Amino acid sequence: MPTTNNPNHASDSLAARVERHLLHNVGVAPADAGTVDLMSAVSQVARAELSRRWVAGDSADRAAKARRVYYLSMEFLIGRSLGNALAALGLDSAAAGSVGDHARTLEDIQACEPDAALGNGGLGRLAACFLDSMASVGLPSFGYGIRYEFGMFAQSISGGRQIEHPDPWLEDGTPWEFPRPGVHYPVRFGGWVERAESPDAVPVWRHAGEVSAKAYDHVIPGHGTERVSTLRLWKAAAPAHIDLHAFNSGDYARAAEFKNQFENISWVLYPNDSTPAGRELRLRQEYFFTSASIQDILARHLAEHGTLANLSDKVAIHLNDTHPAIGVAELVRLLVDEHGFTWAAAWAMTQKTFSYTNHTLMPEALETWPVALMQQVLPRHLEIIFRINHEFLVQAQALRPGDMEFQRRLSLIDEGGERRVRMANLSIVGSHKVNGVSKLHSDLLVETIFSDFAALWPDRFTNMTNGVTPRRWLTQANPGLTQLIDSRLGTAWRRDLDLLRGLVAQADDPAFRAEFRAVKAHNKHRLAALIHKTTGVTVNPTSLFDVQVKRIHEYKRQLLNLLHVVTRYRAILAQPNAGWVPRVVVFAGKAASSYTTAKNIIRLIHDVGQVINHDARIGDKLKLVFIPNYGVSVAETIMPGADLSEQISTAGTEASGTGNMKLALNGALTIGTDDGANIEIRQNVGDDNIFIFGKKTPEVAAIRAAGYQPMRIYEGNPQLKAVLDSIAAGAFSPDEPARYRPLIDSLLWGGDHYLLLADYEDYVATQAKVDALYRDQEAWSRKAIANVAGMGPFSADRTIREYAAQIWHVAPQA
Ligand SMILES: *Cc1c(COP(=O)(O)O)cnc(C)c1O
Repeated sequence: MPTTNNPNHASDSLAARVERHLLHNVGVAPADAGTVDLMSAVSQVARAELSRRWVAGDSADRAAKARRVYYLSMEFLIGRSLGNALAALGLDSAAAGSVGDHARTLEDIQACEPDAALGNGGLGRLAACFLDSMASVGLPSFGYGIRYEFGMFAQSISGGRQIEHPDPWLEDGTPWEFPRPGVHYPVRFGGWVERAESPDAVPVWRHAGEVSAKAYDHVIPGHGTERVSTLRLWKAAAPAHIDLHAFNSGDYARAAEFKNQFENISWVLYPNDSTPAGRELRLRQEYFFTSASIQDILARHLAEHGTLANLSDKVAIHLNDTHPAIGVAELVRLLVDEHGFTWAAAWAMTQKTFSYTNHTLMPEALETWPVALMQQVLPRHLEIIFRINHEFLVQAQALRPGDMEFQRRLSLIDEGGERRVRMANLSIVGSHKVNGVSKLHSDLLVETIFSDFAALWPDRFTNMTNGVTPRRWLTQANPGLTQLIDSRLGTAWRRDLDLLRGLVAQADDPAFRAEFRAVKAHNKHRLAALIHKTTGVTVNPTSLFDVQVKRIHEYKRQLLNLLHVVTRYRAILAQPNAGWVPRVVVFAGKAASSYTTAKNIIRLIHDVGQVINHDARIGDKLKLVFIPNYGVSVAETIMPGADLSEQISTAGTEASGTGNMKLALNGALTIGTDDGANIEIRQNVGDDNIFIFGKKTPEVAAIRAAGYQPMRIYEGNPQLKAVLDSIAAGAFSPDEPARYRPLIDSLLWGGDHYLLLADYEDYVATQAKVDALYRDQEAWSRKAIANVAGMGPFSADRTIREYAAQIWHVAPQA
């Protein structure tokens, strides 16, 4: 007999369950339910179903005493959860039907969920794609991070300038988190270390402050499996033993201030990318979540095994970049100070437990902390780091006796100027494996910034090329293409993306190509609607959609793209009837709040757009738009509508890129440099199906070594000179003609560090080849299909299987 009290009884129709959640949990009569009410109720139905899978998987892993992987990351750029959860549960069509009863569309319902934007860009999105794949592949796994009260700032544009708004994503609560009031750990700071009497005695850390880390869980559904993964996020709170009311009797302002001292640690995500934030609060954040996570890992292990002696047999801890690197010292501390391990045993265990992913080749982006700051915030950890360093440098000395330069470069402490702890060096020394995120990047790590470590430990370094989850970035973002692929290949490709190779044969079928173009046309209409809604600019959806969407950064060279746009604008004016392929150039991306040059580039994009979009002589031949507030949900509309994917970083600067993968998977052709994963994309889609231009990494190095002279290039190229002169003279900022003089001067006189001028000519010539191909729509769609067909290796499932087999040694469970 079906019980009417159970809101998720399996024999219930989904519509009935939604109605009951409306009545019991949301508190509205089903007939009166609004869009947000329905979002909430549908989410509750999905949540309950996922919870059941979660409990089952968790108890199976406990019973099996499974080896698990713990992925520590400062950022998880998740986006929305409802669509993904319904797809994983196979409830999407039932859900569409149930909200249809209320005269709503599922798309509208989903659109009222705020993005969980707990990340800046690629690094955080990678962590989110990895969680999806860990669950789908069936790895016993946890993600660990911070439950930021405010995620990545929301971006709006005013007068062409970026405005940052706080992102109170938790304001109205979220159905996707499960508070765990019983799970909390003390995290301590400051104070001093009491020197032990005998050398064998355990030192005592007399800390000065303490916060409590409280656990909030998110269930991560797997696709094509009942397995799920867990994302555990930590919120900072005053420890229970501090009685705020007694402490501040009646003085509420002081009480609030006092409470803030504890809670500010998990208040806000640092809006930085590719430049570390050197603030004390950031160091506290890093230690806070790392310490809580490792304490949690040890507690789980002890509950299951009763001993830590076999910790490294059952636990793999992964460092997503150096932000959790202090975990190396924290595990040593916990084992020695609190669990009675000898130093030697603790250190051996630590090295077997950790592995580390590096995300950058740019030395200025490697994280370091002043020794003086670490002494003040984490005195015991600094002591441990010094001892690790001492023993490590003895090893280095044995390999190259007397080579002090070698030791100076390897040292965990940078002794030049203010002494600083090098977090990358700590991560390498504390890990058994270190990986880069594309073949080129991993090769360059060993050849350049980590060459000394590679000389010591060649086997420690390896490659794991990034991937993206095809569930969010194809099935969910692009239902049209998904259905088309299903109609030819069946649905197995969704769990084995290599099966997309089957599309190679389809590319020869004119009917398939026509359907493929119809899907793209539909997606371009959707993108055109988003452009209109967010910018007010009307674009012709039959134009070539040329997109560059990613963080705004000099190394990514949005400015090079813009130089091409201005070049094209001037060329159209000079030769209006030259048979131009109509283009819409789309930018989107945020600039770090403190990054002045990146913000100037955003403003220049808007100023150039103002002129071009309002120039009646240009019409549909060229449009330039900037879609504000780039994030996961915006990306889900942009990727399917793109024809051309701009991946134009200076060779040797982009570690991998994942935006490049999402765009190619949705049938965009790449115009890109020989950089990051572009190289592997070229190898997989074929040289004829991608536009590669520009100086390659060794050439970039040679040009810099020979003394690069951008002024020579400027003087030698009249087209380039005219473009730079027009921007510098105020052609796009007539109200303030000198506005962009500094930006242009940074190229001409400031050394043009990212070699825009060196690559300009080849870039513009390659853009002409893009036009030529686009004129032949049959040829273009063949190549676009070849791109989709070649994207199998860029599934994050492939990446995660490689990590699991070669680094973590964790076995997928059925
Ligand atoms: C994929 C993604 C990125 C990374 O883009 P790149 O082009 O690899 O820099 C950044 N932000 C969001 C929202 C993404 O989805």
